Amino acid sequence: MNPLFTAVPLGLVAAGGVVYAAAYPRSQLFGPTICRTPSPRDLALTFDDGPNPAITPQLLDLLARYDARATFFVIGRFVRECPGLLRELEARGHVIGNHSETHPNLFWLGRASLREELGRCQDRIASVLGAPPVLMRPPFGVRNPFVNGVAREVGIRSVVMWTLIPRDWLERPVEWLIRRMQPIAGRATQAQTGTPRATGDVICLHDGDHRHLNGDRSRTLKALEYWLPRWRDLGLQFVTISAGDGPSLAAGGAA
Ligand SMILES: [Zn+2]
Repeated sequence: MNPLFTAVPLGLVAAGGVVYAAAYPRSQLFGPTICRTPSPRDLALTFDDGPNPAITPQLLDLLARYDARATFFVIGRFVRECPGLLRELEARGHVIGNHSETHPNLFWLGRASLREELGRCQDRIASVLGAPPVLMRPPFGVRNPFVNGVAREVGIRSVVMWTLIPRDWLERPVEWLIRRMQPIAGRATQAQTGTPRATGDVICLHDGDHRHLNGDRSRTLKALEYWLPRWRDLGLQFVTISAGDGPSLAAGGAA
């Protein structure tokens, strides 16, 4: 056969594999990640791209109304702008994770740049809170073969992905976003009616806009106002992510 005809499809398959490994949230090909909670009753709320003075304080008040703790993956350069907000997140019992210093697509970065992006965010959080975080979520959910190893070198124990990402950054009506979040309730109802399910959901939402401070995420707040009481009434408990929830990057682990 003409090698051109075989080379093209093979190339596409290889490229597809890399794209899958880099971006599919539950792909483990570039090393282990946490993407579920250990119990079907536990729902982990996670928020990326803050801290954001325009949204995060309102979100904290909303979460407090339901006694809900969440996990916040923050951007280092926004931490520099709003250290007080980061302290408030921690004081209110939420867990902080690393979401890089400037939110680049990590797929294109080599080890030195990765170390700078992840290490600077670690240092910035540590300078405010006294200790660096042990969790990390890659910007855009995208990794490459070096990310887990570099993350481990800067003190991160687990990379966190998700089971549901409703794309709350899109400028669509609140009703659309509420529908996109429906699978959480659907799965909780299934669990109640006896369909066996071993693990629970991690939802990825955004309290900030990675491009600039004070991004408008009011639709995310409104959708949560709708869902938080309903999720609670379905028996879901709001939990934070802990490095013990899944595979660790610690010494000896695949990276
Ligand atoms: Zn992000």
